[in-house]
Amino acid sequence: MENYDSLILKQKAFFRSGATKELSYRIQALEKLREAIRKNEQSLFHTLKEDLNKAEFEAYATEIGVVLEEIRFTLKHINDWVKPEKVKTPVSHIGSTSYIYSDPYGVVLIIAPWNYPFQLAIAPLIGAIAAGNCAILKPSELTPKTSELLRKMITDLFPEEYITVVEGGVEASQALLAEDVDYIFFTGSVPVGKVIMEAAAKNLTPVTLELGGKSPCIVHHDANVKLAAKRIAWGKFINAGQTCVAPDYLYVHESIRDEFLQDFQLATHELYGAKAIENPEYTRIVSKRHFDRLLTFLNNGDMFMGGGSNEETLTIEPTVLTEITWKDPIMQDEIFGPILPVLPYRELSDVIDGIHKHPNPLALYLFSENESIQQEVLHQISFGGGCINDTVYHLASPYLPFGGVGSSGIGAYHGKGSFDTFSHRKSVLKQTTKFDLPFRYPNVKDGLKKL
Ligand code: NAD
Repeated sequence: MENYDSLILKQKAFFRSGATKELSYRIQALEKLREAIRKNEQSLFHTLKEDLNKAEFEAYATEIGVVLEEIRFTLKHINDWVKPEKVKTPVSHIGSTSYIYSDPYGVVLIIAPWNYPFQLAIAPLIGAIAAGNCAILKPSELTPKTSELLRKMITDLFPEEYITVVEGGVEASQALLAEDVDYIFFTGSVPVGKVIMEAAAKNLTPVTLELGGKSPCIVHHDANVKLAAKRIAWGKFINAGQTCVAPDYLYVHESIRDEFLQDFQLATHELYGAKAIENPEYTRIVSKRHFDRLLTFLNNGDMFMGGGSNEETLTIEPTVLTEITWKDPIMQDEIFGPILPVLPYRELSDVIDGIHKHPNPLALYLFSENESIQQEVLHQISFGGGCINDTVYHLASPYLPFGGVGSSGIGAYHGKGSFDTFSHRKSVLKQTTKFDLPFRYPNVKDGLKKL
């Protein structure tokens, strides 16, 4: 196993030099990063095509455009974010003032997954830079072309002691986890999240865990069915369902089930054509292993649409399975592919009970025009984040911190949330020396003393 001792020492020394804490240094780094992303746009289209057959439109919308927007937003607000925040001071502390300083942690380790291999490595890095840290990026081994491009880009831009990329799989990840870094930001699966947290516990390293799980989507009988069908088809099949916040499964009210399914099929055909696996713009499954796992679900329940696949191109048609129950294999774990199981319901309370029996979802989507139904679901179910009458979109707002709860994750990021994630909030009380309050000391009987 490779040893990253000297790399960590170099980064720690560079951090201690204070360079990365300078506001001008952070701004310059973000500007350089933005410039490099723009310059490498065509290369990124190319590697994302090779790694996942991502179409340019999707690659720009979900990988490149998202991080450029995150940089723009960060540069717009960073001057305010870095200022110490003055807060109230209680009367009992008369004479003093109180501040919260945002302090960078030091060396942060960012471990990224393969499904949005560029965005999920760079978006946290933006927060780490803005907060004044050094960083080590470990992208996924399953998207090697994008990981290699990331390494080249970062190596051209920054000295190793500031920001660097370590390529490799589980071994590289574990070797880095064996080091004493100051913060770990991990995006990936729930089981690996547990491995990360265990490794972090050894040095009491703080973590953010952006994990996954089964995210429900509920279509109530009063929903705008056509629009729901379109927005769910988009959120489910973008990136061929390999999205952490994709609607994993659907609860549809029984009275509108057939209407919804017809509209859903139409919407899917409008997005990708009647034969998506022949569409050159349709994303593929990342590996043969993931492809084979997904195929095992195709005999669950009844096939309403799709089901076709191509082993050579590793593509699976947008598929809908009906007559599904919680006992089916497809309902045991996150699907992470273009297969949508549908469960009908009559009472909303059954939906809420069903979700409560399972770990807190990363995302939840509800389609309903009724405010009290919306409030009931929001009030009763704990989930990371989500949308009313849409899917996935919440993730793209810099004003909404993005993260899970329970087994879907710890912590959140995006926008100011990223800056806060990579900063320790250091509380400081500045006391006056003009006078001294006697009653804090034992056995003092006289009043306020002039110093
Ligand atoms: P993964 O957990 O298998 O791998 C993620 C990273 O961890 C990779 O860089 C990998 O090399 C490394 N890794 C894998 N096994 C490891 C181990 N035993 N020890 C140390 N490091 C290890 O996840 P994945 O398959 O790349 O991504 C899919 C999962 O990520 C899904 O569960 C999805 O929901 C989740 N995800 C979550 C978010 C989010 O923002 N919450 C975003 C994307 C993906």
